[in-house]
Amino acid sequence: MSGPADFEGRSVDDVRRKLAATFASRGIDSPELDARILLGEALGLDLTGLIAQGGRLITVHDALILSSFARRRIAGEPVARILGRKEFWGLPFKLAPATLVPRPDTETVVETALKFLRDEKRDSETIRIADIGTGSGAILLAMLSELPTATGVGTDISLEAIETARRNAQKLGLVDRASFIACDYAAGLSGDFDLIVSNPPYIPSRQIGQLAIDVRDHDPHLALDGGPDGLEAYRAIAPSAFGLLTSGGALIFEAGQGQDRDVRAIMAAAGFATNEPPRTDLSGVDRVVVGRKKPVKMQF
Ligand code: GLN
Repeated sequence: MSGPADFEGRSVDDVRRKLAATFASRGIDSPELDARILLGEALGLDLTGLIAQGGRLITVHDALILSSFARRRIAGEPVARILGRKEFWGLPFKLAPATLVPRPDTETVVETALKFLRDEKRDSETIRIADIGTGSGAILLAMLSELPTATGVGTDISLEAIETARRNAQKLGLVDRASFIACDYAAGLSGDFDLIVSNPPYIPSRQIGQLAIDVRDHDPHLALDGGPDGLEAYRAIAPSAFGLLTSGGALIFEAGQGQDRDVRAIMAAAGFATNEPPRTDLSGVDRVVVGRKKPVKMQF
């Protein structure tokens, strides 16, 4: 059931159960959760509101909105795309067609970057961060939310992404410390940065067609496509990042599954020290690679 007539005049509780059953029968992974979120969005109610108003009857207007959401979900569109927002690092991010949906795996980039600064005892310095290919601004803004004295710049080739990231910075109250530039990777940046982070496109071009529908049909291919072997963005970013970093700074990359060795080799070729083991994400995949720009030892 997903047409407006299936919802109109029924109670909130009834619709929620039936929608979850429909989602389950279509093989959707989290049918109850998705039904609750989409129903709540259609009615403008949070979980408490849905429970409190379980007996309320669905109007024609609500039924139309809900049926459009339900059809999109059944066709494979992720809930985050339907809502146009996703939580990352506990913060709300607005999305646009030009931005990836931020992934929980990418929180490992934030964790690694924060740990790097804390280990170096630099987390309360006025450090400067760059996020290459910032999308919705998720990595940069999550970092700035944790580092009250840091400032940062996010770049993205897509103007729509830049506008979305800027809006997110505004909504999160970080606009004074975050700026955004539309450019190819690091092309519009000038140094010095203490930390550069990036979740670049890393899917080999030929594999994009085989990705799950929610990614293949709903994430922007520009943000996914890493060229023939998936590593082109790393080759482009690593040397320019080396030039932009202060000595003692670090470049922290998200890598695709199985790419960590290649990414380390690319970073090493650009001059980075990459002896630290990669950090694993929540699924145990080696996900985040750190390259340090070692301080130059002065010889007198
Ligand atoms: N992690 C994304 C995926 O689900 C890819 C993002 C990227 O290419 N950086 O495949």
